[in-house]
Amino acid sequence: MLNSTYKSPISPSVSWYEDSLSERPVYSALEDDVQCDVVVIGGGFCGLSAAYHLAKGGSSVVLIEAYRFGDGASGRNGGQIGTGQRYGVVELEEQFGFERAKALFQIAENAKQNLHDIAGENNFEYDYLPGQISCLYKARDVEEEKQFIAVMNEKYDYDKISFIDKAKTSELLGTDLYHGGALDQGTGHIHPMKYVVGLAKSASNAGAKMCENTKATGIESTKSASGETVIKVKTAKGTITAQNCIMATNAYGDDLEPVTARHVLPIQSFIGATEPLGDELNVLPEKHSVDDSRFMLRYYRKTKDNRLLFGGREAYTSAWPTDVGKHIRKQMVELYPHLQDVPFTHAWGGSVGITPSRLPFVREVKPGVISAAGFSGHGVMMANYTGRMMAESLMGKTSELDVIKDLDISAFPGGRTFSKPLLFLALTWFAFLDKF
Ligand SMILES: Cc1cc2nc3c(=O)[nH]c(=O)nc-3n(C[C@H](O)[C@H](O)[C@H](O)COP(=O)(O)OP(=O)(O)OC[C@H]3O[C@@H](n4cnc5c(N)ncnc54)[C@H](O)[C@@H]3O)c2cc1C
Repeated sequence: MLNSTYKSPISPSVSWYEDSLSERPVYSALEDDVQCDVVVIGGGFCGLSAAYHLAKGGSSVVLIEAYRFGDGASGRNGGQIGTGQRYGVVELEEQFGFERAKALFQIAENAKQNLHDIAGENNFEYDYLPGQISCLYKARDVEEEKQFIAVMNEKYDYDKISFIDKAKTSELLGTDLYHGGALDQGTGHIHPMKYVVGLAKSASNAGAKMCENTKATGIESTKSASGETVIKVKTAKGTITAQNCIMATNAYGDDLEPVTARHVLPIQSFIGATEPLGDELNVLPEKHSVDDSRFMLRYYRKTKDNRLLFGGREAYTSAWPTDVGKHIRKQMVELYPHLQDVPFTHAWGGSVGITPSRLPFVREVKPGVISAAGFSGHGVMMANYTGRMMAESLMGKTSELDVIKDLDISAFPGGRTFSKPLLFLALTWFAFLDKF
């Protein structure tokens, strides 16, 4: 155990993930001006993955992270991988037609596989545990869920998902609050901070220059005398000059670039970790991960060492709550009343970047600068894979990114200033509807 005393400026409380690492290597800050092919801003899954693939492909790359790698959402999330895009295949098909929906589904399948492949190729541990259950909070949703599963099995050739009834759901969860659910054996959950550490090391080993505590304070895109795009990214101690820039700042890049900020809003989400639970407590005996069908969803899972990591409560203000654990505990005890007296060893939170349609925002925001953000609670695999797709697209290796890049993601009306109060009202209303 690291027993970390590091307090990220992004989140005042130390996560269990960080504390449970055996190492978290430190990377030096940028001290001088440098030149490279591609500068990557943001050291979460997306930026780290982009840096790894660029370096592996022979490009010179500099990655800068304002704090430490994984301090954003990537090192503090629920660790659930999921299947498909954040938006279901049925809704995608209604909006884009079958071919496009299938292509988006296939990208998500590739993203899933990519997680395992990269860890395998570079030989790092990330505590993968298989099995994911999406549970139904309302009885009236059972028929729709069965139809969704039939579509997945028959139309999308995905046979790893099946319906489980109320009794089976209760047996696998250790609570009878739900009316059934979908058991997906083709996905699972990971220790995200171990993944961050492994990926950062892999990028560094592949030859990327990796800088922590280096905040980008401005991005300039101009044309040289010969007509080539020149990018200059400013930091406190040095300027990085490059031909291309990948922006992977997600919900944390507020003040850096206005187009991304208009399309992606931060929502805070919180997680509490219990001490290791004895088997007699009968909580997720097979260590599945779970999310539920409420608009204000609960997401939880067992770790390898038998802790319950329970995520839920969301907040739409930037103020950090003083009682992170207290609210999460209430939601956990609603499901598992017998955990009333089991303490949280850690409680923490982070910002989830969301878009209006819950599909990722990937766009060239100025010449030579491509931004990817707003994975809407689905970035464990998708942020990783989008980083890869951006890197490979810059190196001319694949056009897979086009399927995502062309998506018409609208901006939040009124930008961040006006959207936050409106979003607060809308989400509070949907949370109220969850009760009926
Ligand atoms: C509590 C919580 C639970 C979640 N649970 C899940 C889950 O179970 N499954 C799932 O799929 N997704 C989940 N997510 C979402 C998922 O974590 C994200 O989609 C994913 O990590 C996004 O990765 P990223 O690299 O795009 O962004 P981040 O990991 O947020 O990285 C962005 C980085 O950019 C840096 N940065 C910002 N501005 C600058 C600057 N000016 N200069 C330099 N660096 C800068 C930040 O410091 C940050 O480290 C959850 C998120 C949270 C917060």
